[in-house]
Amino acid sequence: THPVTPAAQIERLLRADLRGRTAYGAPQLDVPVALNTNENSYPVPPEVVEAITRAVSADAAGLNRYPDREFTELRESLAGYLTRTAGASIDPDQVWAGNGSNEVLLHLLQAFGGPGRTALGFTPSYSMHPIITRTTGTTWVDGLRGVRPTDAGSDGSPAGPGARFDLPVERTAAQAAEHDPALVFLCSPNNPTGTALDLDVVRAVYDAAPNAVVIVDEAYAEFARPGTPSALTLLEGRPRLVVTRTLSKAFALAGGRLGYLAADPALVDALRLVRMPYHLSSTSQVVARTVLSFSDVMLGTVEAIKEQRDRIVAELPSLGYEPVPSDANFVLFGGGDDAPALWRALLDEGVLVRDVGLDGYLRVTAGTPAEVDAFLAALAQHPPRGG
Ligand code: PMP
Repeated sequence: THPVTPAAQIERLLRADLRGRTAYGAPQLDVPVALNTNENSYPVPPEVVEAITRAVSADAAGLNRYPDREFTELRESLAGYLTRTAGASIDPDQVWAGNGSNEVLLHLLQAFGGPGRTALGFTPSYSMHPIITRTTGTTWVDGLRGVRPTDAGSDGSPAGPGARFDLPVERTAAQAAEHDPALVFLCSPNNPTGTALDLDVVRAVYDAAPNAVVIVDEAYAEFARPGTPSALTLLEGRPRLVVTRTLSKAFALAGGRLGYLAADPALVDALRLVRMPYHLSSTSQVVARTVLSFSDVMLGTVEAIKEQRDRIVAELPSLGYEPVPSDANFVLFGGGDDAPALWRALLDEGVLVRDVGLDGYLRVTAGTPAEVDAFLAALAQHPPRGG
């Protein structure tokens, strides 16, 4: 008889719907220039480091007790930040938070998805949306993006770069109606394409899918170009609408793991049914509150990052590559016939970008000026072939 390997035994025990799946796997490599996970390249400023150290230290003796399960003060800080910046008044009871917006998304799937229910999303978008969906036994339905010739603007203008990634209002709403999902994922600015959504799409999808919780993932909202409104302005009167945000990007706190959402208080209340008690450690709460009390300082790098993003978009065409316009802290670019080979070649030069699995495209995070110098210099060594 053949010995049964542990791997084979575990495979047999695993939930049938998880067998053969691959885990989220952005490579974590030790490279000089890491521009692959849309982090903020700037370290937490010294004055904030000092304040975090003081606050965590003051809290440490109390770690024998469970934290505030309702993270009351943190919700007040988050609601205050949104109200100051997003053009809508948000109350603390409209706010929910978790260990990264990934956990907040998981809570939404646990509460509103599940076996026999469907979540609709539009690939290419954030790769974790389908993964989180499936871990809860929810069925993922991949909607169609893209502008067809018949969708061209009423003035007959040709579709711009990246038009194949657009979400035209009517076609998107029609898909929401057709699938009658329990959840819909929209993402604005969209990862990995970078473009922000017109709020007409959100309104139309909300109306077309009367049984759906409609999620607008705004992880990159703070980087949007001027005049880009947030879906937070649509919350009033739409109890099924949810806007998710994070401190991981503009706030430079990816390591702190703090994401949040704003929605109707009734929807927030439903999430209490699925979260683990005390899911946000008191250390997480203290760190996030401290960072939010320094929001001007923490957001001080956003303009510099946007400048580098715009610089990448402006310079790529002269290197033979085609950038997609971006409202985020990254740029998707096409060109050449072999994205995996280009990814490897850039890595050999010490520059790690992201192969998002989109034929002919790579994604680069807008880092510091020196990092972007290194990226552009490495790219210049590798003009597109057959592009
Ligand atoms: N949403 C989008 C669109 C993202 O790109 C990311 C991170 N890459 C997240 C959510 C999750 O971020 P976090 O869990 O760090 O808040």
